[in-house]
Amino acid sequence: MAIVQTDVPMTAALCQQTIRALAAAYPFFRVELLTTTAYGRPVLALVIGEGERKVLYTAAHHANEWITTPVLLKFAEELAQAVQSGGRLYGVKAQNIVKTATIHLVPMVDPDGVDLVTGAIETGTLEYEAARRIGDNYPDIPFPDGWKANLLGVDLNLQYPAGWLKAREIKFGQGFTRPAPRDYVGRAPLTQRETIALAQYTEAVDPDLVLAYHTQGKQIFWQFQDYQIPGAQALGEEFARVSGYTLEDVPYESSFAGYKDWFIQTFRRPGYTIEAGQGRNPLPIGQFDEIYRDNLGILVTAATGLPGGTTGGNERTPPTL
Ligand SMILES: [Zn+2]
Repeated sequence: MAIVQTDVPMTAALCQQTIRALAAAYPFFRVELLTTTAYGRPVLALVIGEGERKVLYTAAHHANEWITTPVLLKFAEELAQAVQSGGRLYGVKAQNIVKTATIHLVPMVDPDGVDLVTGAIETGTLEYEAARRIGDNYPDIPFPDGWKANLLGVDLNLQYPAGWLKAREIKFGQGFTRPAPRDYVGRAPLTQRETIALAQYTEAVDPDLVLAYHTQGKQIFWQFQDYQIPGAQALGEEFARVSGYTLEDVPYESSFAGYKDWFIQTFRRPGYTIEAGQGRNPLPIGQFDEIYRDNLGILVTAATGLPGGTTGGNERTPPTL
C-alpha cells in the first residue's frame, strides 16, 4: 500500500508524517532536519543513495506551489520500492540509481506558507491573523490562494545572494516594499530561517546538480545571466525531451535572487528551475498524476546524469548505466 498520498492537499504535518513513514518502511532512507521555521515547523530532508554523484531536489519554495511536494515524496517512495524489489524506475535499474547517486530531497521549503494555502491554519489563529494583516496591504492578491511567501511575508525564492539588489530594485518598483504574500525580497539576502538553512545545507552537500520545483508553465529554466555551465544545456535538453516541457533557451533576464540562480553562480554547476504543470496556482491536486508522469524522467535522469556525459563544473563523471 502506498505511503505517499497524492489525492489530498499536502500540509506540513502530512509531509512530515510521510517522511517519517517512508524512513520507517525503508531503512536506507536518512532524515535530516534543516531548520525550524518562525512558526515552529520543521524543514526536513529525505536522503537516499550511496553514490558519489550528489544531487539536491527542492520543492515548495513557494507556498501555493505545494503540489510539487508530493512529486518528490512519490519519487522517493517509488525509488525505494524499486530498490527493495530489484526493479526499475523509468527504465533504469533502481540499484544502479542509488549506487550512482546520493539524492537529497527537500520536499517542502516553505511549510508555514503551505499550511496557510492548504487551509491547515485555521481562521482566527495568531498565525492566520498575522498573515491576513500582511495580505490586507495587498488587496489585489487573492488570500490565501495567491500566497507564495513564508508567513513573515518574505518570498523565499527572492532571498539568495545572486543579483539580489537587482531583484530588490525590480520588486520594489512593482510596489513590493514590505512584507507581502509574494515578491518581497526581505531586508537582505538570506535573512529567513528557511533560506539560510537551505543555503547551508547546499554548501554541506556540495551537489553536482540541483532541481528546484515550482509551478506552473511546463517550462525548464537553466541559465543565470551569462554563466556558461558545461553540460547544462545538454542535460536541460534531455529534461525537455523526457518531460515534454519547454527548455527556455534564452537567458532569463528577469530572474534574480532565486535558489537556482545562486546555485549556478556559486557552484558553477547545472541548476534548474522546473515550472511543473499548467494552470492557476495553487494547481488542483487532480493534476498530480500528469505532473508526476511528466517529471519522473527528469528526476531519474538528473540523478544518473547523461550516460558518459559531463556533470558540469567538477571532475566527477557518472558511470554509464
Ligand atoms: Zn515558484
